[in-house]
Amino acid sequence: MNTLCYIALGSNLNDPRRQLVSARRALSDIAQIQVIAVSGLYASKPMGPQDQPDYLNAVIAIETTLEPLALLDTTQAIEQQQGRVRKAERWGPRTLDLDILLFGQQILDFPRLCVPHYGLQVREFVVLPLAEIAPSLVLPDGVHIAKLAKQIKRNGLYRR
Ligand code: ATP
Ligand code: CA
Ligand code: CA
Ligand code: CA
Ligand code: CA
Repeated sequence: MNTLCYIALGSNLNDPRRQLVSARRALSDIAQIQVIAVSGLYASKPMGPQDQPDYLNAVIAIETTLEPLALLDTTQAIEQQQGRVRKAERWGPRTLDLDILLFGQQILDFPRLCVPHYGLQVREFVVLPLAEIAPSLVLPDGVHIAKLAKQIKRNGLYRR
């Protein structure tokens, strides 16, 4: 069965634009994944430590026959392929971050995977690109993405 999923992409190291383009290609190269839509690129201020470059963010819609944890294995493998180094510092700089925002309308609470992603509704760099590619989306809790996009606290995000 195909499930419509949304994935948030972020990068602030080693040519972020190239990182996001490569991640999009890596996702579409997976046999069990079809890329359905890709948002524009958005520049955002870092969360947490401020002694790091600004981020470039986007959201991608895919359809996949993968199970949720297999999709996470796939996105984490792509992060690794693109040189993601995990450090102790929370929200430190990275070449590529892939967060699974939504897996259909499912609510999942595994040790390794919580969906919807806990930051979805409160992060400007997720809400705005998601609203761009899925303006009529309704989240599993009944919240409309368009309403979030109107109400989200702005923090200097801009479309590149
Ligand atoms: P944040 O999660 O606040 O955006 P982060 O992206 O920097 O921070 P990571 O270090 O990339 O955090 O991920 C930490 C762990 O989160 C991963 O090892 C993964 O198992 C787990 N995780 C839980 N839910 C999800 C999800 N929906 N998408 C991606 N990873 C998830
Ligand atoms: Ca494919
Ligand atoms: Ca630092
Ligand atoms: Ca993240
Ligand atoms: Ca992550």
